[in-house]
Amino acid sequence: MAINRRQFIRSLGLGAACTAIPGTSLWASDKSLNTKDERLFKLPTLKCDVIVVGAGPAGIPAAIAAAREGAKVILLEEDMLPGGAPVDMYVTYMCGAPRIGVFLDMIKELNRKHSLSITPSSTIKDWAWDGKQHWWLPSAFVQVLDGFIESEKNITLMCASPVVDTLVAAKGNRNQVYGVCVMRQGMLQKIEAPVTIDATGTGLVAAKAGCEYFYGSDARKDFNESIGLEKSDGRVQPCTMMYISQRTRSDAEFPLEAFKTGVLDHDNVKWASQQTPQEFAEIDSGIYLHWGATVECKDTTDSVLVAEAHRQAIKKLEPQFEILRSAGYVTHVAPKLGIRECRRIKGEYVITVDDVLKGVMHDDKVADAWYSLDPWGMKVDAKIKNSVGPYGIPYRSLIPAQTEGLLTAGRIISGTRLAMSSYRVQPICSTIGEAAGTAAAMASLQKTGVRNLDVRQLQERLDQKGLFDWYRHVNMNVNNKPWKNK
Ligand SMILES: Cc1cc2nc3c(=O)[nH]c(=O)nc-3n(C[C@H](O)[C@H](O)[C@H](O)COP(=O)(O)OP(=O)(O)OC[C@H]3O[C@@H](n4cnc5c(N)ncnc54)[C@H](O)[C@@H]3O)c2cc1C
Repeated sequence: MAINRRQFIRSLGLGAACTAIPGTSLWASDKSLNTKDERLFKLPTLKCDVIVVGAGPAGIPAAIAAAREGAKVILLEEDMLPGGAPVDMYVTYMCGAPRIGVFLDMIKELNRKHSLSITPSSTIKDWAWDGKQHWWLPSAFVQVLDGFIESEKNITLMCASPVVDTLVAAKGNRNQVYGVCVMRQGMLQKIEAPVTIDATGTGLVAAKAGCEYFYGSDARKDFNESIGLEKSDGRVQPCTMMYISQRTRSDAEFPLEAFKTGVLDHDNVKWASQQTPQEFAEIDSGIYLHWGATVECKDTTDSVLVAEAHRQAIKKLEPQFEILRSAGYVTHVAPKLGIRECRRIKGEYVITVDDVLKGVMHDDKVADAWYSLDPWGMKVDAKIKNSVGPYGIPYRSLIPAQTEGLLTAGRIISGTRLAMSSYRVQPICSTIGEAAGTAAAMASLQKTGVRNLDVRQLQERLDQKGLFDWYRHVNMNVNNKPWKNK
């Protein structure tokens, strides 16, 4: 069900909890800034063609695509570094397809310079899917992605620059977004552009613009879905604290028996936990990616509750760390708790699980997608989950309802929670990002609204860049389900 912020708080019963949980009073004061009060803005207003908020798997490709269309882009990131989930949550393993455009370039560069096997894998080729479990160090993503951003002269990257509000003017019955307010060096600054892309993973920019959003599970009937919960439990997918373990003693033996699932060797066909002790002994790479502890967070938009969940996850992990330590392995824990789900911004179209299962290719498709349903914390029949083939992401799901001047990209686009559990993976977020960036630049440079953009023209442009019907561009017969035999 679509909700606004006040209803959301009430639905969680947290109104009453405000006095009990220190810091939740922050919510009470969560009003938009008075952006007319010029005394608040100590830094000069900046202007550009396209603003991208969030330098993660969706935002970086969005910024690059817009820049390559000739738009002047400001890319804003609240962290000190670009990268998003692979860098700050250690989600350094990629699932799903398509693997094209900026994403493919990134994988090739990671393989070339940062392979954990030292020798690059010769099997990573045209569509970067060779059936092996590759992952890379978080710092490798920073180097590669920052290099990509630096080589685009039209992009100005501003790190340590959280967006704290959205600039909005009423236009008829719509909200016209004309930029954002950012906090830099402890001072507020306005940045204005005809088009802003919200690639925050949290949907904060859209929420601040007053856009409606969905939070937590949906009931089947909410969107007429053929599978799902009878009744919404209001929960988002649980969070996972990722970490990397690494051998430090040459005689150390990895305590495989202590880890039944969620441990990834690198550049191998099987997950560590799927290997027999003999297979494991032959490969034993010495460095492992762990899907560590999984915890619930009641409200992933609230920093106090996220901090609490983070602490809980670390406590849960202590026994694992102890086992690894005594076996001779150190652990590198991700700086941030891995949050799978936050707001989903209601758009002009809501992608449903049936769109995903039926492989619907909408007339206004701007990105391709292909990954199983992966709703953590919710049981779905394995046969149904894995029956997903290629499907399309419609442009309408990137356009927040009743809003102009704003596009969404990445996991926050408009879809039900079950549909999102498929398209939230990084190759798909990246493809959506490139489509959003291309659309934003076209609209901005043509001086038209994102809603008035000629979708056929956008599709043609994406096709020229090899980003449309990707299977055609990589000569793949999707009906053969090639991911099964690569
Ligand atoms: C535990 C876990 C495991 C996962 N496993 C996999 C997997 O195995 N394979 C896979 O492909 N995907 C996986 N995913 C999913 C995937 O990582 C995410 O869905 C994906 O990263 C979403 O990309 P995004 O760009 O939309 O958001 P994000 O990666 O969250 O990037 C958003 C960026 O915006 C920045 N930002 C946020 N707010 C602001 C603000 N106000 N101002 C400025 N900047 C801001 C953030 O710092 C961040 O850099 C996993 C996710 C999690 C959490």
